[in-house]
Amino acid sequence: MATNISRRYVIIGNGIAGTTCAQMLRKNDVACEIDLITNEPYPLYNRVSLPRFLQGVLTEEKVMIRNRAWHEQQRINLLTETLVARIDAEDHVVHTDKGQALRYDALLVATGGWANPLRVPGAAGTKHIYNFVTLDDTKEIIARANESKSAVAVGGSFIAYEMAEGLNVRGLHVTWLIRGPRWLRYNLDEEGGSLVDGIARKHNVDIIYGEEIREVIPANGVPASVVTTGGRQIAADMIGVGLGLTLNTQVLAGTGVETRSGIITDEYLATNIPDIFSAGDVAEFYDPILGRHHTMGTWDNAAAHGRVVAQNMAGGHEPYVDVPTYTSPLFNTTIAFIGSPEANNPDLTSIARTTTDDKGNPAYRKFFFKDDQIVGAIFIGGTKGRKTTGKLIKANTRYVAPAEKEALFTVE
Ligand SMILES: Cc1cc2nc3c(=O)[nH]c(=O)nc-3n(C[C@H](O)[C@H](O)[C@H](O)COP(=O)(O)OP(=O)(O)OC[C@H]3O[C@@H](n4cnc5c(N)ncnc54)[C@H](O)[C@@H]3O)c2cc1C
Repeated sequence: MATNISRRYVIIGNGIAGTTCAQMLRKNDVACEIDLITNEPYPLYNRVSLPRFLQGVLTEEKVMIRNRAWHEQQRINLLTETLVARIDAEDHVVHTDKGQALRYDALLVATGGWANPLRVPGAAGTKHIYNFVTLDDTKEIIARANESKSAVAVGGSFIAYEMAEGLNVRGLHVTWLIRGPRWLRYNLDEEGGSLVDGIARKHNVDIIYGEEIREVIPANGVPASVVTTGGRQIAADMIGVGLGLTLNTQVLAGTGVETRSGIITDEYLATNIPDIFSAGDVAEFYDPILGRHHTMGTWDNAAAHGRVVAQNMAGGHEPYVDVPTYTSPLFNTTIAFIGSPEANNPDLTSIARTTTDDKGNPAYRKFFFKDDQIVGAIFIGGTKGRKTTGKLIKANTRYVAPAEKEALFTVE
């Protein structure tokens, strides 16, 4: 009898991790039942394309990856605008805010993270202060940018940079506040930071380091200016906030699933509670290359997690062993992260060098080692050599002599 009962899968989060998992589950099992749940109103869209949508380079249509017809054809039950409120791990049931109780044989939590808001005096109740994570965020930013002249972007990581550039491309005067001494201070050293600084200034973005927003000064419910922790007053019709994500682990409250900043999994993306798995940005997964748990907020990592976790939810035993890469445009150049380039990790050593690429633009490379084994790299400018570097990391290649390490600067 039991063999005639199809397996039931529930997936929370229809980002690239969740949707890829659903697709793979269907590919491997024509009979299974799949519920794919999201609180957002859209089928899968490309978050990586949102900066280009903000700049006006891409249309909304081009940002969409899947439509409802695809889900119907794949027999994936897509539940949009539906928030998972609670999971009953003992009875294997997911409860939504719409009163549904969805039974599962295996559950995937691929819930990503929600952006941290700006919490300073004057921010609460003031309109036009934006995070930049969702398609709806982007539409709202574009609408306001079209009626604005000036903006302040705050944050030392990718999201703040993407907003600074997007609003700059839309013709606003942008001031970018970075709390630390440079952009991406946990990855870049002084040399890499000053290279990025030069690129941003060339594009007429004003950057102020070592300062944050102390207060928003509103007028009639919209921003008029911001006051920085250094006491400057800067005019701003809108404010872009890139202050990091809080990973969405709270949905697991009461289940006994172990969480830290993310959801703890082993290298099979399984949590400590039977039949509950995690993938994508929210997973704090065991990485056999580094020999420890970590999170990885990149598109390729989330997609690869989705493929592997689908096998394991269906009873497989496939470890996730991959070298994640993150490549992003950076004004008129490119930045690429390969593996785990963590400048603040005391267990890693590094070497860095700035040269020029074949177009004469500055090119920066930095390689990270753990006990002489290459574990990560950053390339700014020419990204040639990225793939080879990824292969060297995956192969656990060791470089003992300094000259061997130096030779990496010429890898193609
Ligand atoms: C503006 C921007 C630019 C980026 N650029 C790049 C880039 O250039 N390169 C790169 O590699 N990466 C980039 N990223 C990161 C990349 O987009 C993410 O790593 C990836 O999308 C994560 O996918 P995910 O499936 O893990 O989670 P997400 O895409 O975050 O999906 C999770 C979904 O789950 C939903 N959810 C959460 N909790 C619940 C709940 N309780 N009930 C129902 N639904 C819930 C969320 O609303 C969301 O829709 C960028 C991200 C942003 C925001």
